[in-house]
Amino acid sequence: MDGQPGHIDQIKQINAGAVYRLIDQCGPISRIELSKRAQLAPASITKIVRELLEAHLVQETEYQEVGSRGRPAVGLILDTAAWHFLCARIGRGSITLTLRDLSTNVVAEDTVDLPAQSELPFLQRVIYEIDQFFNRHQQKLERLTAIAITMPGIIHSSSGVVHRMPFYADVRDVPLGPALSEHTGLPVFLQHDVCAWTMAESLFGASKDSQNVIQIVIDHNVGAGVITDGHLLNTRRHSVVEIGHTQVDPYGKLCYCGNHGCLETVAGLDNILTLAQQRLPLSPQSLLHHQPLTVENLCAAANMGDRLARDIINGVGYNVGRIVAIMVNLFNPDKILIGSPLNQSCDILHPTIQTCIQQQSLHDYSKDLVVESTHFHNHGTMPAAALVKDALYNGALLVQLLQG
Ligand SMILES: [Zn+2]
Repeated sequence: MDGQPGHIDQIKQINAGAVYRLIDQCGPISRIELSKRAQLAPASITKIVRELLEAHLVQETEYQEVGSRGRPAVGLILDTAAWHFLCARIGRGSITLTLRDLSTNVVAEDTVDLPAQSELPFLQRVIYEIDQFFNRHQQKLERLTAIAITMPGIIHSSSGVVHRMPFYADVRDVPLGPALSEHTGLPVFLQHDVCAWTMAESLFGASKDSQNVIQIVIDHNVGAGVITDGHLLNTRRHSVVEIGHTQVDPYGKLCYCGNHGCLETVAGLDNILTLAQQRLPLSPQSLLHHQPLTVENLCAAANMGDRLARDIINGVGYNVGRIVAIMVNLFNPDKILIGSPLNQSCDILHPTIQTCIQQQSLHDYSKDLVVESTHFHNHGTMPAAALVKDALYNGALLVQLLQG
């Protein structure tokens, strides 16, 4: 009977995760209601709930059921304060560390420098900063469940290896996940920041009620995350959809990936600021003269009707829109989310993208499609928090906590 115990463990894990998720999302909820919604026998619910109670992952509470005037019922809610987890985001030159409880509330947060150049290797520096964070906040620490880290780059999330990162040129196949796990004794979750952000929007943000979502990130890098049937699309090793390296101009600039005229070379923030700089002498009336050329100033000028600034943002919209229109035909989503500092000019950017989609993809797929801004921004650690939530909901982390 090869493999059978594994199979049973897997069912146990999935059921425990599903029950935990229902308590989190619908609590206070009675055992009877849990049994109905999870489609599990009352005896199974009793057993799973008992284990969750013993591990202090859920607690009982009295509540008045809707429409009932009788005695209060006993329902279950999460017990979140007794458990903490660490979230981290590595950006360009800094690392943000956030200690959260299981409700994702912030207990402590610091952002510290993590320069591109250093005498110490990247791995050692990250571990050092995490140790320092724990030392600084020792007084507030409860039982730790996990560490989750998000970052840009080429990341193999299941093995925890960071192959390459933009900005940190010395990063080459760094085993960050396994090394950190060995150092702390905790499970470590690693994910590309676009994917984790897509999960965060789906769990707590703008795509909470959608099962099929395309999330486009336009920042220094350009990428996408796709949710199909409620799950993050995973292709072999990677789940980030590399739209940034789709060719939009065969005669365009050389991209760091080795190809020419990638979407990122025309829509990435650094590149649009360079383009604005080049076109500025041809627009003597532009509001962009005599002020630092930043994304904030570009958007502010566009919102005030500045022609050059509007042109630049519309250009991003057309180029991104063309690729999104192809993705709409492939995935037939309910919603397109745009995560970008350019959302400061969303009244210009979003309609341009929407028009491209309507003109360039199937009418049936695009007619009810909405384009909107993400709820979170490309900083902060809610994406990392989403990795931990996801691992609790699918049962993988939950079972580890139940086993102590
Ligand atoms: Zn490229």
